[in-house]
Amino acid sequence: MQTPTSDFDAIVVGTGPGGATVARELSRNGKKVLILERGDNDPEKGTFLKTLPRAFVPGKNVVLTRQALPVVRAITTGGSSMIYCGTAFDPPLDILKSYGVDISRESEELTSDVPVTKLPDELLGPGPRAFLESAMDLGYDARKQNKFIYPSRCKADCQLCMYGCPYGAKWDARRFVAEAMVNGALMINFANVEKVLVENKKAVGVQYRHDKETFHAYAPKIIIAAGGIGSPLILRKSGMRSAGFDFFFDPLVFVYGKIKGLGSGKSIPMSTGIHFEEDGIMMTDFNMPRMLKLGLDLEILKVKQAFSYSDTLPIMIKIRDELGGEVANNGWVKKSLTKEDVKKLDKGTEHAKRILKNAGATDIYRSWRVAAHPGGTVKIGEQVDSNLKTKFDNLYVCDCSVMPQEWGLPPTRTLIALGKRLVKHLLAAEEAAKKGSSEKTDPAPALMPAAETAEAPAPRTEMLH
Ligand SMILES: Cc1cc2nc3c(=O)[nH]c(=O)nc-3n(C[C@H](O)[C@H](O)[C@H](O)COP(=O)(O)OP(=O)(O)OC[C@H]3O[C@@H](n4cnc5c(N)ncnc54)[C@H](O)[C@@H]3O)c2cc1C
Repeated sequence: MQTPTSDFDAIVVGTGPGGATVARELSRNGKKVLILERGDNDPEKGTFLKTLPRAFVPGKNVVLTRQALPVVRAITTGGSSMIYCGTAFDPPLDILKSYGVDISRESEELTSDVPVTKLPDELLGPGPRAFLESAMDLGYDARKQNKFIYPSRCKADCQLCMYGCPYGAKWDARRFVAEAMVNGALMINFANVEKVLVENKKAVGVQYRHDKETFHAYAPKIIIAAGGIGSPLILRKSGMRSAGFDFFFDPLVFVYGKIKGLGSGKSIPMSTGIHFEEDGIMMTDFNMPRMLKLGLDLEILKVKQAFSYSDTLPIMIKIRDELGGEVANNGWVKKSLTKEDVKKLDKGTEHAKRILKNAGATDIYRSWRVAAHPGGTVKIGEQVDSNLKTKFDNLYVCDCSVMPQEWGLPPTRTLIALGKRLVKHLLAAEEAAKKGSSEKTDPAPALMPAAETAEAPAPRTEMLH
């Protein structure tokens, strides 16, 4: 059977930090890119109502585990970067190097495209200040965190990062998508990719649903970047049945305290923090939008606190959870916290309570658990090699799902760096192929198991529009 032809050099599925970076870098290098994005591309408004359908629709972007733990992601252009807090943690370079992946150069390079900076003191609101001062007073190694924020556009008295920054101060992956489109990329929104079309163990295209119809799109390179939950679902339907198991999701809790005279409750979240690396616990200040706090309080029946917003200092505790669980075929998440995970959350809570008490807080209580970084579902060294290639030629994965092991810190900087590295690899491989060698003569060091068998769907007529 002949491979269908296409107008595109590559198809990128999903526009979170991973996919957006790949689309931007490919298009900057003259490649024609088709971007397929399941969500909308409506403008950011920085409001609860706009965020609701992107991030809080049960079964779509919030799914509950059996322990009633919500796992949150955003389905929209820009992916979860539209609701993230914009904190830029350094990548786990040593962990990745041990899997044959060196992104140290790319992690530095990205600072010329993306703001990575600590907030100046005048942007530290009362919440972060109180957290930092109290923690330092107790001898904790508390510091300002690097942020993906343009300080000149940012407002100190604001806590709206998770609603999509209304001031254009927070970097999000839409910026790279917009750049890709200026460079000639085509994006189709509301395109729900179902599977990859595979022919003779080579990926040739994707099948997606759009406007209640099924379409096929074809390109010589396919990059799946639908996130830690989206990507394994697509890959499983494409013949990679081991995708979507034994993953992490970085569970977290909030601990709140009331500090008289603290202020409006508005400050940029995650401006400062403490990392207990050995314990796998991270802790930051976390002023959040009013409606979010209300929802989290009502979830644990803290009715009085739900309607009290000012003078509150929330502290977030996020942990490095043990690998486990399964992304179910319907997109729900089956994963239970282990005893170790619960112990870590409790230990972090004790630290937070100490810091709150030392800051003069009363009425201290803890939220229910949430998880926001599903990843490790298509691991480097298992389902993809160190060049992020799957067992199928021309099929790559570039998002949080490729993280090879649990790490416990927010991954956006790592994902941008991985995207840049992948595109360098694709361009170099193309150059090498032109010169007569091929990608196959330079196998990647870490290989996935050969146990999986291809289940190649028959390509149908091209219906791309
Ligand atoms: C509340 C919150 C706060 C966070 N704060 C931080 C932070 O401060 N710092 C940090 O580094 N990280 C933070 N994160 C995590 C970070 O946002 C994510 O880890 C990151 O966005 C993951 O990027 P990704 O490319 O893997 O996928 P995603 O961002 O999940 O993007 C996946 C994309 O694929 C699309 N998609 C899904 N399925 C399909 C399909 N079938 N077909 C087509 N498209 C599809 C989605 O719509 C989306 O656009 C936060 C996350 C949340 C939820």
